[in-house]
Amino acid sequence: MDVACYTAESSDSPLTKSTLSRRELRSDDCLLEIRWAGICHSDIHTVNGDWPHDNFPMTPGHEIIGKIIETGPDVQKFTTGDVVGIGCLVDSCGTCRACVDNEENYCEEGATGTYNGVDRHDGSITQGGYSTHIVCREDFLIRIPEAFSDLESDQAASATPLLCAGITTFSPLQNAGVGPGSRVGIVGMGGLGHVAVQIAAAMGAEVSVFSHGLSKKDDGLRLGATNYVATADEGFDKPFRDTFDVIIDTVSAPHDVNPFIKMLGRKGRLVLLGLPTEAMQIPAGLLIGKGRSVLGSAIGGIKQTQDMIDFCAEHNITAETEVIPAEQINEAYQRVIDSDVRYRFVIDAATF
Ligand code: NAP
Ligand code: ZN
Repeated sequence: MDVACYTAESSDSPLTKSTLSRRELRSDDCLLEIRWAGICHSDIHTVNGDWPHDNFPMTPGHEIIGKIIETGPDVQKFTTGDVVGIGCLVDSCGTCRACVDNEENYCEEGATGTYNGVDRHDGSITQGGYSTHIVCREDFLIRIPEAFSDLESDQAASATPLLCAGITTFSPLQNAGVGPGSRVGIVGMGGLGHVAVQIAAAMGAEVSVFSHGLSKKDDGLRLGATNYVATADEGFDKPFRDTFDVIIDTVSAPHDVNPFIKMLGRKGRLVLLGLPTEAMQIPAGLLIGKGRSVLGSAIGGIKQTQDMIDFCAEHNITAETEVIPAEQINEAYQRVIDSDVRYRFVIDAATF
């Protein structure tokens, strides 16, 4: 079926109104009517060619909430009318060790991204959530908890970014065993960062935010941080040396991570989530002396995504969102690049 969408024709053209074709339902597919679509910084990296690819025209979007309006004959878990979400993944091999361990995000054959991925059956390029409808295998749908399931509510719009920003930050925090007594640092108070603060605080950690400046300090403290620190201040790391169990780095631009490594305590971990394109330099001695590690983390598996959104519903955690009509997407992209959004844009899919 042809559906309305917003599409970029190339890495230097704006997103404009267009149409794309969604596949006929396969036996385990569901057809969703999309209600809300979040704007992740990864959409911007992809559309702007920061991560080179040839898959234009491109409809991005991997934070999606909507309602099922049709199901394939073999669908077991969902039915018409269910409110569901889609995050960054729409398929994986299902049989490798990663998939069997519920880590489809690390599928050994490569998981299929919600957009800019290759469909495992017909080889077409997947297209994302900036559109009115999408087709997805039932195994990759997330059940939206009741607290967020009134699709016309602010809660539903504000829960939408959890499908990427939520799982991407929940996963490394949970995997590190964060709980009461943990000391957690969050670098970058953007879309990912402001959700990470809430999740880490709800897990029981003492949270410190490291941001360019102090303009978002009141929000950081309100969302659960104990300390809010400006990285622009010389020597900002000194009072925190050797203290953190986990630091989550969400910064999207090139930056020096060594001050953050110095703030890690014994066996502390710096988890890189942001994807600046330049390589970073780390002296081995900074890691070896205290058994510290630097690791990366990519979103999370489907089961952990369900656990994340259930946790967020239970703890009343959502993103702080600015809802926009589709015609403002290009302006919104520039505002995300300029760090001028508090804290996530969500597109009203009725305007595609
Ligand atoms: P965002 O909303 O733009 O937030 C990024 C934050 O980084 C900004 O709010 C800002 O925080 C800080 N920042 C931006 N430019 C900076 C600069 N020049 N120097 C220092 N700090 C700067 O982006 P997002 O959607 O949260 O995504 C963050 C990054 O994570 C992106 O690179 C995205 O592609 C990546 N990502 C990764 C995954 C994964 O699975 N690993 C998933 C989703 C997104 P302050 O103003 O507080 O300093
Ligand atoms: Zn994302």
